[in-house]
Amino acid sequence: MGEVRCFGCGAAVPDVAGPVHTYMLAAPGCWALYGSLLAWRSSLSGVVGVGTSQYLVDTYAVQHATNPERRNRQSVAVHLMSLCAALEQGIPGTRLRHLIGEWTHRDYPLLLPRPASFSVNVAGVAAAPPVGRSEALLMWAASAWADWSPHHERVRGWLADALSEPSGTA
Ligand SMILES: [Zn+2]
Repeated sequence: MGEVRCFGCGAAVPDVAGPVHTYMLAAPGCWALYGSLLAWRSSLSGVVGVGTSQYLVDTYAVQHATNPERRNRQSVAVHLMSLCAALEQGIPGTRLRHLIGEWTHRDYPLLLPRPASFSVNVAGVAAAPPVGRSEALLMWAASAWADWSPHHERVRGWLADALSEPSGTA
């Protein structure tokens, strides 16, 4: 089977036909790898499982800023905010899950330029043996956040605004 490079994250993935997300566009082989990681994370439990799960969802989303459409802009923005909150402020995934729902109620601009490439991608995490996969995933998350560094100040500002708003709906 041949390989193609995902136009979102740059991962070398199997050249297959298949479903993709509605607006978070990716190569079908990339989306399938993400699906395999979602299946793996569902085997994790407890608070650690929720945290790992949040890193997975956030990191995949910020590496697929592939569509200028409103929902993709929101997805990239709120998942960058979530990565920032987790990595820089230690906010747990159990809380982020609820916060993200609130953050999506506003519009976000397209962040340009998006990273030209990513140092780690979904293929590397999927290839890690299950015993080391949580660790690989955390490195993936940290590297993706670093790859977006030209936009860090802006994202930190959005996060600070969002966290200072009264949150009665969580
Ligand atoms: Zn991809």
